[in-house]
Amino acid sequence: MSYTFDIQRTLTPKEKPDPDTLKFGRAFTDHMFIMEYETGKGWHNGRIVPYGPLNLEPAAAVFHYGQSMFEGMKAYKTADGKVQLFRPYMNAARVRTSNERMCMPDIEPELYVSAVRTLVDIERDWIPDKAGTSLYIRPLVIADEPFLGVQAADHYLFIIMCSPVGPYYDTPGGGLSPTSIYVEDEYVRAAVGGVGFAKVSGNYGGSLKAQAKAKEKGCEQVLWLDAVEHKYVEEIGTSNAFFVINDEVITAPLLGTILPGVTRASVIELLQKWGINVSERRLSIDDVAKAAHDGSLKEVFASGTAAVISPVGKLMLSDTTLTIGDGGVGELALRLYDTLYGIQTGAVADEMDWVFEV
Ligand SMILES: *Cc1c(COP(=O)(O)O)cnc(C)c1O
Repeated sequence: MSYTFDIQRTLTPKEKPDPDTLKFGRAFTDHMFIMEYETGKGWHNGRIVPYGPLNLEPAAAVFHYGQSMFEGMKAYKTADGKVQLFRPYMNAARVRTSNERMCMPDIEPELYVSAVRTLVDIERDWIPDKAGTSLYIRPLVIADEPFLGVQAADHYLFIIMCSPVGPYYDTPGGGLSPTSIYVEDEYVRAAVGGVGFAKVSGNYGGSLKAQAKAKEKGCEQVLWLDAVEHKYVEEIGTSNAFFVINDEVITAPLLGTILPGVTRASVIELLQKWGINVSERRLSIDDVAKAAHDGSLKEVFASGTAAVISPVGKLMLSDTTLTIGDGGVGELALRLYDTLYGIQTGAVADEMDWVFEV
């Protein structure tokens, strides 16, 4: 099935931001995608319209009970001017999982990818091509039915907006720089049976307190531990976490509390392709500390769409600070970053068939 959408172009295009001073998520493009859902009628009236405010009632369910999910993707411009997405059907699959968990209506992967592709195609000129820049794509689904009863709504909006973004790091050329991470032992992100595996808004509102605490301690992000024993490593902020101990690369298993990152899956597939031993298994923070002390902890890094790969230089625990390797950028983190970012931007051959041309 192929989808077509009505297109209403803006009559007042905005000036594009300076690619040298682009920040993350502050500027928005000229258009957005919007589609409605009604029980009995299904998804309908998908269209591209000028980017602008929504007209929602204060009683809209999303404001009260948080029936809301989002996605995060990027479109890159290659050196020869092509526009490409990275594994969009993986995001489409995750949309289904998130919607299902939140009792929100399913979106067919073809509909999802068609909508993203149509909007990105229209906003082609907004995709910056300077090193480290890209067009961040933010799809979301919200319950906009005005009703105060606690139940699944009968009316929803599926919206996609785009934002030209700069390098995640302020370092020259947007290169990798090691981060300091606070090991959070009080607040938790997700419990088994909850919504940690879904990209739903409430997970992020609930994480801000820990994020603020990490900032106070001079760290960029938190390392979340499991909600039951406060012992096993889970995620780093809003990205997945990898630990290299001796020759084994370890990441937390998908047991309901971990967001299954597209970047995480890609890291695992690349490591397997390279013949590197990668395990999805539980790893305690005590074992991480022990490995740091005996020198077998070689690297720690985070993976996600925003920064691709983010090396960790220091892990701060309540009673001690661990320096990872020599505190700099690890060899494996660098190789993964160069490969993934290279494939995304067209500089490295796409042997894995991950790239999707718009
Ligand atoms: C989005 C997200 C990730 C990373 O997922 P990607 O698909 O790689 O961008 C990891 N953890 C959390 C909690 C997230 O929200």
